[in-house]
Amino acid sequence: MDPVISSYQAPRIRFLGAAGTVTGSKYLLTFNQRKILIDCGLFQGLKELRLKNWDRFPIDPKTIDAILLTHAHIDHSGYIPRLIKEGFRGKIFCTQATFDLCKILLPDTGHLQQEEADYLARKKISKHNPPLPLFTVEDAKEALSYFETKNFDEEFEVIPELFSTFKYVGHILGAASCFVKAGPIRIAFSGDVGRWNDLIFRNPIPLPQVDYLVIESTYGNKKHDTSEPMMDLEKIINETVKCRGVILIPAFAVGRAQSLMYFLSQLKKTNRIPNSIPMYLNSPMATDVTKKFFEFKTLHKISELECQELFSGFHFIKTMSESIALNEKKGPMIIIAASGMLTGGRILHLLKTFAPDPKNTIVLAGFQAEGTRGRQIQEGAKEVKIHGNFVPVRAQVRTLENLSAHADYSEIIEWLKASNIHPKKVFITHGEPEASFALKKHLEEELSLNGFIPRQDQEFTLD
Ligand SMILES: [Zn+2]
Repeated sequence: MDPVISSYQAPRIRFLGAAGTVTGSKYLLTFNQRKILIDCGLFQGLKELRLKNWDRFPIDPKTIDAILLTHAHIDHSGYIPRLIKEGFRGKIFCTQATFDLCKILLPDTGHLQQEEADYLARKKISKHNPPLPLFTVEDAKEALSYFETKNFDEEFEVIPELFSTFKYVGHILGAASCFVKAGPIRIAFSGDVGRWNDLIFRNPIPLPQVDYLVIESTYGNKKHDTSEPMMDLEKIINETVKCRGVILIPAFAVGRAQSLMYFLSQLKKTNRIPNSIPMYLNSPMATDVTKKFFEFKTLHKISELECQELFSGFHFIKTMSESIALNEKKGPMIIIAASGMLTGGRILHLLKTFAPDPKNTIVLAGFQAEGTRGRQIQEGAKEVKIHGNFVPVRAQVRTLENLSAHADYSEIIEWLKASNIHPKKVFITHGEPEASFALKKHLEEELSLNGFIPRQDQEFTLD
């Protein structure tokens, strides 16, 4: 028998995260006794999920040879510094834009971890004494030295006889789906799939033919509203301007903040909102991410001129004292600040000042998770607790629909139709159970595809 054939072992996949939930993306692929991870994300959201980040890693991180990273969002990249702390010493492959965003996001996450540990130390409410961060800013910076960047559509060898290629998928700057050839078996990992006909990112490009597909299902049970976010925003701003109010927009620093900035600068340019209204971006991290749009011009649809207009149209707030000074300013004005769900960050002191006045408007521009101030305000809370005090909410509260960076089920079906692929099995991940079940049904009914929803830690042979 041919010795190469006899040593061949079919690849195996094990779901170490984003199985039955949307965060913690980590898929372990074992091939010829070597191991690689596709994504290495943090569990986020409810406490019970966040605590999973502290579990002992189910295999020895030293035995993992490499990581393929689809994009920079923390639920896909945020466990990397921890894995290195635990002994991982392999290479981390991703696109250049993903690496650049990780340089911004991972140290920031380390900083937040340290802040939380300090908070627990002050409150004396941790099992650990002293309470420890999952990783520090220094750990995050060290992690960056393990990265190696690859171009979109460039095939590269990850471990012997296993090759990978990153394919453009929209979603955020640098995001990719990941195509893997392990011996004769072809597997695609969707990563987070972007929108169809988005104003900022191009459509995800079709996937090559595969034997297996691992697909996200964040909105597997939803069809996005067809409302035009720019029209909604225009209406909200003009109504608030009439009362000389302040428009306060909490937004995630990566992705959402840039979409909003683009919409606002286009509205101003076309005189759909007053040209004189000052606009502030109050987030140094969002500012750094916005600059990346200039550098990676081929990855989005915003023209050079529009990029320049976007920059000249905003005041970029750098320091904390500049941020605090915004509290003294009178409306009309527009302020974008993090965090997107009002869980922390500079938005909080602005909320204290502007939420009690009915002239002002709070614009919620994304999903507001249970237990967050954003959700409380969205559900009509008359007051919210900030820094230990109750702050009345008398401002108008509006939610902008249709701003998601994730494809809904019909867009996923559209993408797979364009790909014209016939995998033996589709693993449906990265979704709440009802979203994953709904996508499974759509895949079966509309594409005759065999969908399967893996549980956390389940392992399968891909033959
Ligand atoms: Zn994402």
